[in-house]
Amino acid sequence: MLRVTSIAKGIVIDHIPAGEGIKIFNFLELDKVSYRVALLMNVPSKKMKCKDIIKIENEININLDILSVLNKDITINVIKDEKIIKKYNPKIPQEIESVIKCKNPRCVTSVETKLKNKYILISEESKEYRCQYCEEVIKLTSL
Ligand SMILES: [Zn+2]
Repeated sequence: MLRVTSIAKGIVIDHIPAGEGIKIFNFLELDKVSYRVALLMNVPSKKMKCKDIIKIENEININLDILSVLNKDITINVIKDEKIIKKYNPKIPQEIESVIKCKNPRCVTSVETKLKNKYILISEESKEYRCQYCEEVIKLTSL
């Protein structure tokens, strides 16, 4: 099995369904960062047979609740001084800010790129959000 040095400070995203880790990796743009990052794929797991794990050796400023779009059983571990100080499952966020661009080409957020976009949850079951600027409804089924 592949060994990766445990991290002193940062975030470990565990129990990612096998094959989905790369989506999270790309979504968080971890290929562009300068700190240490590890993507482990197809790690044997008692709970789910096979899983992906992402280790990030840095604090990141993104609300990881967005990962609930992929799977609610993903575990997010916050590490400090080599210990897990917080462990949680992502919850469907009530609001999403700036992460996703509106699909409506006439939306003000498509024109003014500096504008932070905000989506409001309209249905938890169908994972549908509404753009606060143009009422466009987007369905979040994948990152
Ligand atoms: Zn919009």
